[in-house]
Amino acid sequence: LISTTISTTFRTGGQPDRSVVFESGADYVAKRASLGPHRVVGGGSNLLLSDSGPQGTLVAVASARHGVLEISGSTALIDAAGDWNATAFELAGQGLAGAESLVGIPGSVGGAIVQNIGAYGHEISEVVKRVRVLSVEDGQTMWLDAHDCQFGYRDSRFKSSDRGQFVVLEAQLVLTEGGLHRPAYAELADELASRNNSPAPEGYELQAVHQAVIALRSAKNMVWQDSDTSTWGAGSFFVNPIVSGKDHERLTKELSSAMPAWPQLEGRVKLSAGWLVEAAGFHRGHSWETVALADGHALGLVNRSGKATTAEVLEAANQIASAVTALTGLRLLAEPILMGFEPDLAVAFDAHIEP
Ligand SMILES: Cc1cc2nc3c(=O)[nH]c(=O)nc-3n(C[C@H](O)[C@H](O)[C@H](O)COP(=O)(O)OP(=O)(O)OC[C@H]3O[C@@H](n4cnc5c(N)ncnc54)[C@H](O)[C@@H]3O)c2cc1C
Repeated sequence: LISTTISTTFRTGGQPDRSVVFESGADYVAKRASLGPHRVVGGGSNLLLSDSGPQGTLVAVASARHGVLEISGSTALIDAAGDWNATAFELAGQGLAGAESLVGIPGSVGGAIVQNIGAYGHEISEVVKRVRVLSVEDGQTMWLDAHDCQFGYRDSRFKSSDRGQFVVLEAQLVLTEGGLHRPAYAELADELASRNNSPAPEGYELQAVHQAVIALRSAKNMVWQDSDTSTWGAGSFFVNPIVSGKDHERLTKELSSAMPAWPQLEGRVKLSAGWLVEAAGFHRGHSWETVALADGHALGLVNRSGKATTAEVLEAANQIASAVTALTGLRLLAEPILMGFEPDLAVAFDAHIEP
């Protein structure tokens, strides 16, 4: 991914007018004054670029190396440009627990903070103490406590209310020294127990967790590989919708009492977008001419031919989202950021859209 062009894990779309890559947050701060107006991205694993390319200058703060700058006791300072997956492995290698279930997620540390990455019942925000950011308005850098980052489900102020206003430079994590992992998610708990020949109530070694997570993710085409076009997407294309208790009740009646659902705060309920997509008739493995749903995951909209255009990705996403809306009355939200589009782009789902 690291070059002077902007590459995305979708491998679709056009180039911006100009692009620059920095391999550390400090490099970016040192040289940003000379860049002129620009926007910052990371590893391109949550971006869908228009076929004509985004406007202006895109600056990628991203490196192929891990981003661990300093470890002191249970506290780690990590660079936004670091590759998240390599960083997660490095932290575990240093005996620090807390990020082990988030291995296998591509992209930069900065992107991981922006999106509050999550998997197997954990989110990065659980271990973030504070985040060092640069304010785009006045060029000042400052630390924001985790509380001030407004982390939510696959969300933070950097992705939503203040998108484009801050550049994430570093993060301070608080992990657990010598900790074991107690799985919070049934699928991972089962996988670990079966690999261990029995459940381990005291927890599992971090390395065992890595192996189990990578195996589970690989079976869903969720470990990105240059050599495997069935992973060329942005992970899940739609986020799981969180609905009112009333909507949950209605949909359970209308669709199935077996519809997966997870209770949230204030009586709200999280539904499985993948389940809804399949209920609406788009099953894993479904294929269009150039794009497809991954064989292992109904939300994994991928550039399986390796030759798709972004227009073709959007056309498939529109078909899926329209079918889900027709079935449920719900409007899905796209997880990747759509870059290089007019704000009035007509799509059948909600999305973060930028020029
Ligand atoms: C195969 C695959 C599997 C995936 N699985 C998961 C998963 O399990 N869980 C999950 O949560 N996500 C998953 N994703 C999505 C993606 O990996 C994450 O969202 C990742 O954190 C994006 O990081 P990035 O550096 O690539 O960000 P980019 O795609 O480059 O950017 C995403 C957004 O973050 C902003 N941004 C990036 N870096 C910075 C920075 N330093 N400062 C300010 N803004 C910044 C960009 O402007 C943009 O708005 C998956 C993706 C793929 C391809």
